[in-house]
Amino acid sequence: MSETNKPHVQEFEYKAEMKQLLNLIVHSLYTHPEVFLRELISNASDALSKARFAQLTDGAESGGELKISISVDKEKKSFVIEDNGIGMSEEDLIANLGTVAKSGTLGFLQAMKEQKEGGKLDANLIGQFGVGFYSVFMVTDEVVVETKIEGADACRWRSSGEGTYSIEKIDKQHRGTRISFTLKDEAADFAEEYRIESVIRKYSNFVDFPIYLDDKKV
Ligand code: ADP
Ligand code: MG
Repeated sequence: MSETNKPHVQEFEYKAEMKQLLNLIVHSLYTHPEVFLRELISNASDALSKARFAQLTDGAESGGELKISISVDKEKKSFVIEDNGIGMSEEDLIANLGTVAKSGTLGFLQAMKEQKEGGKLDANLIGQFGVGFYSVFMVTDEVVVETKIEGADACRWRSSGEGTYSIEKIDKQHRGTRISFTLKDEAADFAEEYRIESVIRKYSNFVDFPIYLDDKKV
């Protein structure tokens, strides 16, 4: 590959509070790892609602049935969740997945601190403060988010949750977001369909869109 064709990968550093947050998630919340699945499904569902709204209001292209697709590979311990929702631009990625400008982060840290002093931690806190995405670091060491909004280049965001993340432009034709990662050994059961199904049934009755697990409707 010639120098000019090389994909341009930009590196970004998380702000201090974000590092604190990630550290807490990885080291303190491990008692309820299935929360990650609820949070990723809830984000996919939000993105699908936004896409549906955009279709209604400004005639955005439909992109087919609005849905969430999960696929797993037991051998590889891989986990993929994909939606054809609204997607994110490069700016959205930086604003939504990279900064503590998000109002939730500091409130969450404070609540965690108070709980810890009280002796117990509640992983449910994570969704309430708008920091749900990061719960994925309970079950993996590195996350890749590939995403595209209508009318802009697709991007790949990658982070190991340890202080930095990177963004590069990629080829992705269809609108929506694909989140993929390899499960940690201690979370390998989330590559089992029955395990995922039980979490979906427990938390995701409220989801307005079909969820497919390895191409079968859950
Ligand atoms: P919250 O959902 O409470 O805003 P999260 O940490 O779960 O907090 O997600 C942060 C933000 O990242 C979301 O508000 C959304 O803008 C963006 N996001 C996360 N997942 C997706 C997705 N699948 N599609 C589009 N945007 C997403
Ligand atoms: Mg969320």
